[in-house]
Amino acid sequence: NLYNMVQDLKGNIRVYCRIRPVFNAEAKSVINFVGQDGSIVVRDPTKPQREGSKLFQFNYCFGPYDTQDDIYLETQPLIRSVMDGYNVCIFAYGQTGSGKTYTMSGPSGGSLKDAGINYRALNDLFEISNRRKDVTDYHIQVQMVEIYNEQVRDLLTDSSSMTKYPLTGCSNSYGLSLPDATLHQVESPTDVLNLMKLGELNRAVSSTALNAQSSRSHSVLTVHVQGKDVSGSNLRSCLHLVDLAGSERVDKSEVTGESLREAQHINRSLSCLADVISALAQKNSHIPYRNSKLTLLLQDSLGGHGKTLMFAHVNPEEDSFLETISTLKFAQRVS
Ligand code: ADP
Ligand code: MG
Repeated sequence: NLYNMVQDLKGNIRVYCRIRPVFNAEAKSVINFVGQDGSIVVRDPTKPQREGSKLFQFNYCFGPYDTQDDIYLETQPLIRSVMDGYNVCIFAYGQTGSGKTYTMSGPSGGSLKDAGINYRALNDLFEISNRRKDVTDYHIQVQMVEIYNEQVRDLLTDSSSMTKYPLTGCSNSYGLSLPDATLHQVESPTDVLNLMKLGELNRAVSSTALNAQSSRSHSVLTVHVQGKDVSGSNLRSCLHLVDLAGSERVDKSEVTGESLREAQHINRSLSCLADVISALAQKNSHIPYRNSKLTLLLQDSLGGHGKTLMFAHVNPEEDSFLETISTLKFAQRVS
């Protein structure tokens, strides 16, 4: 399949692009072409057709008609490799409204048919753990945190303690545990659904308390998997599913105080993420993990035995052209 095909060529970092449908009946799409080979041609709506076209190339490109099933089909091999001991990070990047949460969690209040990667991944991990005979004693645990203004908050606890005790440190013992955030043992997809609901509720509550929008924080759902193989040795790995804060540039002349600080934190942490991923892709000896909470939390999954997949989300409407270009450039930089 696609994942294995590109693995040899691209190492452990892949970038997929996903273009969401146009919703506004009056709006036109800036996407001229989406190729089977992961290429995409975008046109500048302010310029004549021939001058304004830009080509970008990714590992794969999903168009507006591609379904959640199509997306998961190309993500599943990566999820399965978690059961072989790989640490995996999946990121959703893009401006607010481009479909990040749709890809990771599905539409809000939607049916399981449209479930996102989060639910499908957990479902798969359970299925594999029940089926496999060469690994026993599987334990699956989940954590969910959000990062807002460089502070880490536990999303799977009651909301009052969540805002009172922001988590700041980072435990590094196995590289597989986030600091202090509650770990919940899960036994079934229903357990997972309930925890994800609690996490989403807490995220909404905390952002209201801070007078911020949930799209201004990164949310990280971490799945820890433990088991014993036939020789009795331990298998430990984890999967991070990350719904990033909206990448849109904020016009500095229009925002002040808290919103400006928020925007600066987001810009900084997203560019730290790009620095880390591109340093890994170039196999640099120094990887600047320590420059942001996000990269610090994920450091042991991003490097070494880790595999990374970034979804770059595009809102194809003409109004979003500049953000689209900036998203595609970001994605090109990490691929
Ligand atoms: P983001 O998380 O990037 O801010 P959302 O995932 O909330 O964006 O998407 C914005 C809106 O568009 C939501 O109503 C969502 O259900 C819808 N949407 C996004 N992507 C798709 C898609 N591929 N197909 C159908 N609806 C989508
Ligand atoms: Mg969202």
